[in-house]
Amino acid sequence: MLTDDGHIADLLPDLVAMRRDLHAHPELAFAEHRTAALVAESLRALGLEVHQGIGGTGVVGVLRNGSGRSVGLRADMDALPITEQADLPYKSLFTGVHHGCGHDGHTVMLLGAARLLARTRRFSGTVNFIFQPAEEGRGGARAMVQDGLFERFPCDTVFALHNWPDLPLGQAQTRYGAIMAAADRFDIVVRGRGGHAAQPHRTPDAVLAASQLVCQLNTLVARRIDPAESAVLSVTRIQGGNSHNVMPAEVQITGTVRTFDGATQDVIEAALKDCAMGAALVGGCDSEVTYLRYYPATINSAAEAELALCAAERIGLKASEAMRPAFTSEDFAFMLQARPGAYLWLGQSPAVAGDGDYRPLHHPCYDFNDKVLPLGLRWFAKVAELALA
Ligand SMILES: [Zn+2]
Ligand SMILES: [Zn+2]
Repeated sequence: MLTDDGHIADLLPDLVAMRRDLHAHPELAFAEHRTAALVAESLRALGLEVHQGIGGTGVVGVLRNGSGRSVGLRADMDALPITEQADLPYKSLFTGVHHGCGHDGHTVMLLGAARLLARTRRFSGTVNFIFQPAEEGRGGARAMVQDGLFERFPCDTVFALHNWPDLPLGQAQTRYGAIMAAADRFDIVVRGRGGHAAQPHRTPDAVLAASQLVCQLNTLVARRIDPAESAVLSVTRIQGGNSHNVMPAEVQITGTVRTFDGATQDVIEAALKDCAMGAALVGGCDSEVTYLRYYPATINSAAEAELALCAAERIGLKASEAMRPAFTSEDFAFMLQARPGAYLWLGQSPAVAGDGDYRPLHHPCYDFNDKVLPLGLRWFAKVAELALA
């Protein structure tokens, strides 16, 4: 484990207090008004140029030091619609809103990196500190990119991290290429006409057609996708009918698809639509498919993944290449579509509670581990120093 190098020890008490304050005052996607104001105020106090209201509640702080390249460092600020169950002194003050993904920690680690870099200035060029809204399913990174993020604040490369309860404290991982999956949602309506359950020959059976469709959908990944590729298709909801003796007029099916490359995604979307049409046709029904591509896959560029690992090693973390990507998704993918960069998993177990309980991201008792704070802070700063050496 690394030791403080004298540059950050005095920064930590205030940062820990700020992290716990954010934890007690979580805000949902695109409503991070208090958090964004705190971030902006904290950056202005360092003398940085600060811009607010980018892509909604996004904030960018610009730190210039001579001429040279530019780098973007991103943190996310939003919380989740969960009621916190842990009994912490800084427990969420709001029922139904909880920093259950550690974005309070990400925000403060990036603010800490801004404080460190503003003090040490061991780089030549421009660091853009990007605080995005709405990472949790609402596309805050996409909103910032569409709002001209990289035109207004040019970045040659971009980097982000996520605290990772699956990795021990002191370790970090990333991957060359895909690290997180693309997340799609599908909604299918299978329509018959409805009728009497005792007269199945007189009306199309939407329940039977939908049931056969669910079975077929579960063969798509196995039979249509190259076995060397990875994909998931999960049907998560099937709904229709409300009586024992009535054939419902329609049945609704919902689910998610996770993939790591566009070609696989295209195959699954097309095959899913074919399956829906085919199952409906065989059953004498109609079908309607809505297929939404929420988040693209998070794809690291090779040179930046290398830099991310190098920065982790240089600050004393045990850094390695992850063997597998995660099937969860990440809004930072939109920034990586626009600029080369990399995304790091930063180990944070054991949980703060110290009781050995596994509390994954999005758990009602999850809490960011403040011992990670100096590690993420130093990683962000080292990334900027290496990218702008
Ligand atoms: Zn999350
Ligand atoms: Zn998260």
